[in-house]
Amino acid sequence: MTRLALIAHDEKKPELIEFVQAHESQLLEYDLIATGTTGKRLLEATELDIERMESGPLGGDLMIGGQVAEGRLDGIVFLRDPLTAQPHEPDISALLRICDVHDTALATNLETAEYLLEGVDARE
Ligand code: PGA
Repeated sequence: MTRLALIAHDEKKPELIEFVQAHESQLLEYDLIATGTTGKRLLEATELDIERMESGPLGGDLMIGGQVAEGRLDGIVFLRDPLTAQPHEPDISALLRICDVHDTALATNLETAEYLLEGVDARE
Protein backbone atom coordinates (compact mmCIF):
# COMPACT_ATOMS: atom_id res chain seq x y z
CA MET A 1 0.00 0.00 0.00
CA THR A 2 1.17 3.50 -0.79
CA ARG A 3 2.54 5.21 2.28
CA LEU A 4 2.97 8.99 2.46
CA ALA A 5 4.27 11.41 5.08
CA LEU A 6 2.80 14.88 5.59
CA ILE A 7 4.69 17.71 7.29
CA ALA A 8 4.17 21.47 7.38
CA HIS A 9 5.87 24.22 9.30
CA ASP A 10 3.52 26.43 11.30
CA GLU A 11 3.12 29.15 8.66
CA LYS A 12 2.35 26.49 6.06
CA LYS A 13 -0.09 24.34 8.04
CA PRO A 14 -3.21 26.11 6.68
CA GLU A 15 -2.01 25.48 3.11
CA LEU A 16 -1.33 21.82 3.82
CA ILE A 17 -4.75 21.37 5.45
CA GLU A 18 -6.42 22.91 2.41
CA PHE A 19 -4.36 20.70 0.08
CA VAL A 20 -5.15 17.54 2.04
CA GLN A 21 -8.86 18.37 2.18
CA ALA A 22 -8.88 18.91 -1.57
CA HIS A 23 -7.32 15.45 -2.08
CA GLU A 24 -9.02 13.68 0.79
CA SER A 25 -10.72 10.97 -1.29
CA GLN A 26 -7.39 10.00 -2.91
CA LEU A 27 -5.52 10.11 0.39
CA LEU A 28 -8.10 7.83 2.02
CA GLU A 29 -6.56 5.03 -0.05
CA TYR A 30 -3.09 5.46 1.45
CA ASP A 31 -1.26 4.86 4.70
CA LEU A 32 -0.49 8.30 6.09
CA ILE A 33 1.94 9.48 8.72
CA ALA A 34 2.69 13.04 9.88
CA THR A 35 4.75 14.99 12.37
CA GLY A 36 2.96 15.63 15.65
CA THR A 37 1.28 19.00 15.31
CA THR A 38 0.68 18.68 11.60
CA GLY A 39 -0.97 15.32 12.23
CA LYS A 40 -3.12 16.71 15.02
CA ARG A 41 -4.36 19.55 12.85
CA LEU A 42 -5.08 17.21 9.93
CA LEU A 43 -6.96 14.77 12.15
CA GLU A 44 -9.16 17.63 13.35
CA ALA A 45 -9.78 18.94 9.83
CA THR A 46 -10.38 15.69 7.92
CA GLU A 47 -11.76 12.15 8.26
CA LEU A 48 -8.37 10.64 7.48
CA ASP A 49 -6.55 8.13 9.65
CA ILE A 50 -3.04 9.49 10.21
CA GLU A 51 -0.29 8.04 12.36
CA ARG A 52 1.41 10.80 14.33
CA MET A 53 5.15 10.93 14.98
CA GLU A 54 6.78 13.31 17.46
CA SER A 55 6.53 17.00 16.73
CA GLY A 56 9.18 18.15 14.23
CA PRO A 57 11.39 20.02 16.73
CA LEU A 58 11.27 16.99 19.06
CA GLY A 59 12.48 14.51 16.45
CA GLY A 60 9.48 13.92 14.20
CA ASP A 61 11.41 14.76 11.02
CA LEU A 62 14.11 12.30 12.05
CA MET A 63 11.50 9.60 12.72
CA ILE A 64 10.14 10.11 9.21
CA GLY A 65 13.69 10.10 7.84
CA GLY A 66 14.20 6.76 9.56
CA GLN A 67 11.24 5.34 7.67
CA VAL A 68 12.72 6.65 4.42
CA ALA A 69 15.98 4.85 5.26
CA GLU A 70 14.00 1.66 5.86
CA GLY A 71 12.34 2.01 2.45
CA ARG A 72 8.90 2.31 4.03
CA LEU A 73 7.75 5.57 2.42
CA ASP A 74 6.64 6.24 -1.15
CA GLY A 75 6.63 10.00 -0.83
CA ILE A 76 6.67 13.03 1.43
CA VAL A 77 4.81 16.32 1.20
CA PHE A 78 6.81 18.71 3.34
CA LEU A 79 5.62 22.31 3.15
CA ARG A 80 8.60 24.12 4.59
CA ASP A 81 8.52 27.74 5.63
CA PRO A 82 11.34 29.23 3.56
CA LEU A 83 11.16 32.59 5.36
CA THR A 84 11.54 31.55 9.00
CA ALA A 85 14.57 29.98 10.68
CA GLN A 86 13.72 26.69 12.41
CA PRO A 87 15.45 25.45 15.58
CA HIS A 88 15.62 21.94 14.11
CA GLU A 89 17.22 22.94 10.80
CA PRO A 90 19.78 20.09 11.02
CA ASP A 91 16.94 17.55 11.28
CA ILE A 92 15.20 19.09 8.27
CA SER A 93 18.41 18.91 6.24
CA ALA A 94 18.83 15.29 7.30
CA LEU A 95 15.35 14.43 6.07
CA LEU A 96 15.90 16.12 2.71
CA ARG A 97 19.23 14.37 2.36
CA ILE A 98 17.96 10.89 3.16
CA CYS A 99 15.18 11.33 0.57
CA ASP A 100 17.86 11.98 -2.03
CA VAL A 101 19.91 9.03 -0.83
CA HIS A 102 16.95 6.69 -1.30
CA ASP A 103 15.40 8.44 -4.30
CA THR A 104 12.18 9.04 -2.38
CA ALA A 105 9.70 11.53 -3.84
CA LEU A 106 9.72 14.76 -1.85
CA ALA A 107 7.51 17.77 -2.50
CA THR A 108 8.34 20.98 -0.65
CA ASN A 109 5.72 23.27 -2.16
CA LEU A 110 2.13 22.97 -3.30
CA GLU A 111 2.87 22.80 -7.00
CA THR A 112 5.20 19.82 -6.64
CA ALA A 113 2.82 18.29 -4.10
CA GLU A 114 0.17 18.21 -6.84
CA TYR A 115 2.60 16.42 -9.16
CA LEU A 116 3.56 13.99 -6.42
CA LEU A 117 -0.05 12.96 -5.84
CA GLU A 118 -0.70 12.70 -9.57
CA GLY A 119 2.39 10.52 -9.92
CA VAL A 120 1.44 8.28 -7.02
CA ASP A 121 -2.07 7.92 -8.43
CA ALA A 122 -0.73 7.01 -11.89
CA ARG A 123 1.53 4.34 -10.40
CA GLU A 124 -1.30 2.63 -8.48
P1 PGA B 1 4.97 19.72 13.61
O1 PGA B 1 6.41 19.58 13.03
O2 PGA B 1 4.02 19.09 12.65
O3 PGA B 1 4.99 18.98 14.92
O4 PGA B 1 4.71 21.18 13.79
C1 PGA B 1 6.70 20.04 11.74
C2 PGA B 1 8.11 20.52 11.69
O5 PGA B 1 8.40 21.55 12.29
O6 PGA B 1 8.95 19.89 11.05
